[in-house]
Formats: sequence, structure tokens, C-alpha cells
Amino acid sequence: MGRSSRLRRLVDASPIRPLVAAVLRKVWNMSECIFCKIAAGRLPARILYQDDLVTAFHDLHPAAPVHILVIPNRHIASVNDLDPGDEALVGRMFTAARRLAQEMGLHENGYRLIVNTGPHGGQTVLHLHLHLIGGQPMKYPMG
Ligand code: AMP
Ligand code: ZN
Repeated sequence: MGRSSRLRRLVDASPIRPLVAAVLRKVWNMSECIFCKIAAGRLPARILYQDDLVTAFHDLHPAAPVHILVIPNRHIASVNDLDPGDEALVGRMFTAARRLAQEMGLHENGYRLIVNTGPHGGQTVLHLHLHLIGGQPMKYPMG
């Protein structure tokens, strides 16, 4: 048996193989993710706010007069992928949304914050995002 096929057998049998595959999958997803590209300034968007943790921009297909997305700058696919270490980040997403709601004049009449998760939740972009929607009364549920 040649050296490379011995190595291949070793890798195939290795318990770290699924971990290596998961890391490669994550790196691949991040390089293709549209919201990662927006946060990094590699895809145009109407950005309203950015800091060290989050970016906020107008939704491309607004569902109401005001429709803003608040995303983490770092790739997190969904709520399912949050860790206890992300609690400050999640807090920042909400305080950024609160400030934007005030700046957009939504404060008094109110607004809706939505986080769709997974196929049944209607999540279409696999990078965590908080929808800030307002400017009109809303029925529940939407769509
Ligand atoms: P969700 O269905 O919860 O995953 O929401 C994804 C949202 O991202 C939708 O409201 C889309 O209109 C919005 N969206 C998709 N691509 C872009 C983009 N390039 N810029 C801004 N918003 C986008
Ligand atoms: Zn991403």
C-alpha cells in the first residue's frame, strides 16, 4: 500500500473526520453567505448602522414602510447555532434595533421584531437576522 493511500485510510478512520468536514462546510458557507458579504462591505446594501458586533441595513424586499435587518457581523447560521458566549451579541442586536426604531419614528406606535428560524420558521437566508418591521399596523401572523 502506498503512502498516500495509507494516509487516506487513516483520515477516513479518524474520529476527527466529521469535525474537519464540519469546519470545511462552515468556511465554505461563510465564503458564499450574502449577509457575511454585506457585513464585510463586499456586497452593496443600504447600511444604516454598523459597530464591532452588528450591521443593520434596509431589507431588499420591504414587507412594510420600514423593514430593516440587524445581523451579527460574524457568521452564525441561525438561533440554533447560538452559544451562551453570544449573549452580548444578541443583546446588541436588540439594542441596535431599539435605537433604529426610535430613529425611524416607530417608537410611539410600535413595531415588530422577528427572527425566522429554519424551514418551518420561514428562514431563507442562513445567517442570523432580526427583522425590524414597522410604519403600519400589522396583523398576526404575517404571510
Ligand atoms: P428570512 O426569510 O427571515 O430569512 O429573511 C431574509 C430577508 O433577507 C428577506 O426579507 C429578504 O428580502 C432579505 N434579503 C435577501 N437578500 C438581501 C440583500 N441582498 N439585501 C437586503 N436584504 C436581503
Ligand atoms: Zn454569513
